Amino acid sequence: MEKWYDSNQDISDRCLKCGSPDIQAKKTICVEWAPAWATYLASVGVRTPYKNLVQRMPLQVGYCKKHKPKPWLRKIVGYSVLLLGCILIGVGALEDSAAVQFTGVCLLFMFLIVVSGATAVRAKEIRQGKVLLLKPIPEKT
Ligand SMILES: [Zn+2]
Repeated sequence: MEKWYDSNQDISDRCLKCGSPDIQAKKTICVEWAPAWATYLASVGVRTPYKNLVQRMPLQVGYCKKHKPKPWLRKIVGYSVLLLGCILIGVGALEDSAAVQFTGVCLLFMFLIVVSGATAVRAKEIRQGKVLLLKPIPEKT
């Protein structure tokens, strides 16, 4: 069954990730949605249609102990990768090694993916002030 939520609806009685009623942290998140073609264009670097069409919807969500967000962990991982990528590009330039530089560039892309993953929970659709989540909250049986 599809579950549509209202803007700013409080759905923090169950963990967003696993549906557990044992809530340890509550948060207001911003769900983003744009038409699939605009999302596709954004993924290949054409971000203007996405920026113009994206809709955002706040929701109050909860997390269990296991799924409590750890932003510092993501930051440490993200910035270590960024630093390592820059070092590799620098070393690659000094040693004149294209392979080392290429590895550095790959790490920089990984950093971008880690950072962009931190920004928003995705919606399957936002229509008439209601949101349908891409990953519904699991039903606890
Ligand atoms: Zn959970």
